[in-house]
Amino acid sequence: MYAPEDIRRWDADHVWHPFSQMQEYLAAEPLVVVDADGHYLIDDRGRRLFDGTSALWCNLLGHRVPEIDAAIAAQLGRFAHTTLLGTTHPGVAALARRLVEIAPAGLNHVFFSDNGATAVESALKMAFQFRLLTQGKDAAQHAVYLSLDNAYHGDTLGAAAVGGVELFHDIFKPILLPSLKTPSPYCYRCPIGKTPGECSIDCADELEHALAAADGRVCAVILEPGVQAAAGMLTLPRGFLSRAAAACRAHGALLILDEVATGFGRTGAMFACESEGVTPDLLCVAKGLTGGYLPVAATLATDRVYDAFLGRYDEYRHFFHGHTYTGNALGCAAALATIGLLSDGEIIRSVERKAHVLREALALLATHRHVGDIRQAGLMVGIELVADRDSKAAFAPAARTGYQICLSLRDRGVFLRPLGDVIVLMPPLSSTDAELQHLAASVHAAVVERLGA
Ligand code: PMP
Repeated sequence: MYAPEDIRRWDADHVWHPFSQMQEYLAAEPLVVVDADGHYLIDDRGRRLFDGTSALWCNLLGHRVPEIDAAIAAQLGRFAHTTLLGTTHPGVAALARRLVEIAPAGLNHVFFSDNGATAVESALKMAFQFRLLTQGKDAAQHAVYLSLDNAYHGDTLGAAAVGGVELFHDIFKPILLPSLKTPSPYCYRCPIGKTPGECSIDCADELEHALAAADGRVCAVILEPGVQAAAGMLTLPRGFLSRAAAACRAHGALLILDEVATGFGRTGAMFACESEGVTPDLLCVAKGLTGGYLPVAATLATDRVYDAFLGRYDEYRHFFHGHTYTGNALGCAAALATIGLLSDGEIIRSVERKAHVLREALALLATHRHVGDIRQAGLMVGIELVADRDSKAAFAPAARTGYQICLSLRDRGVFLRPLGDVIVLMPPLSSTDAELQHLAASVHAAVVERLGA
């Protein structure tokens, strides 16, 4: 095997890490993961760290899950990959059928891709082409998308165009397709100045007004149901989603729901949109679909959307989009095994109870003078740190408060990655009560160590 010092040097010299200031990354001790065991990462110094990020939100049931390992190994004994352009295989057909069974009723068609951004990209292009096919060239020419401020749907240009996280998206604005934006339900810092007592989800009014003002030009509204995750775990007020869905129907826009982060049990239901009984026209899933093993994503569509693309070959109505690794057989095997493990409902039902354990364990931290807000939906938590609780003033970005706290957590046996000064907890669904309590206690101790009692 490679010598640890070689790995560190090659990493420093050659690996350009995503979403990372490399100068800062190189100044810190790298975390070199050489093994993993259940919910723990094992580094080259033999440390065991609880992965409180679930491998950037995709690992649902830990590492080396016997059923998922076996499913991939069995598929490897047949073939690893072929193509969905002109052929099919048992794994992809069975997975499509299982996805249709577990998704809200009516989403009968599955378009596969590789990751969250491509699932979103597919949905956006489907919505545009649907508009073209159903309303003609003139209507399509003026089509726009509508999305929320603070939204995050991935980093490809189409997905970024419907994103709204200032820090990630603003610099690329000149090369992004213009899209309409409405205020995000960021209740802690309400963009329209309401307080919880006087709010009747006024940001949903804004969305309705924006759709009405666009006068039929919006071909699709895209939303993260339940939680705007990458914005810092902004939990949507109950009712927002149903009002958005009703507004889409009223104004002839398709509704795209991005369940890349929230899907597969994270919020305590298979999909977050179930909590308001909303079925979208297009549903994007990725991350947890393979239990965090392999990059497989999917965009599910209703009959109405799918049927619009049917016709004779020379009508050229088909969906002009696809990726080489679409329907990867190893990934499909991992996804089928993952859904198999979730399908008796026990793990997903346990999320509500575990979320309660985590909430209780965080109660003391919630009173800390530098904790402005703790937002939680199931096992998705954002702890917003502030310099001043009364004014809600943020820490100076240069202080790297969230980052430093997460770095110090490594010495307490926990791996976390913050979003700015929001500490994100996204533990595996199979975490034990003791692990969740240890996670909360470790974060509390690290906050006190850095910011005082
Ligand atoms: N949509 C949402 C809601 C996400 O949280 C993410 C990733 N954090 C994406 C899309 C993009 O997924 P990927 O990183 O797999 O492209």
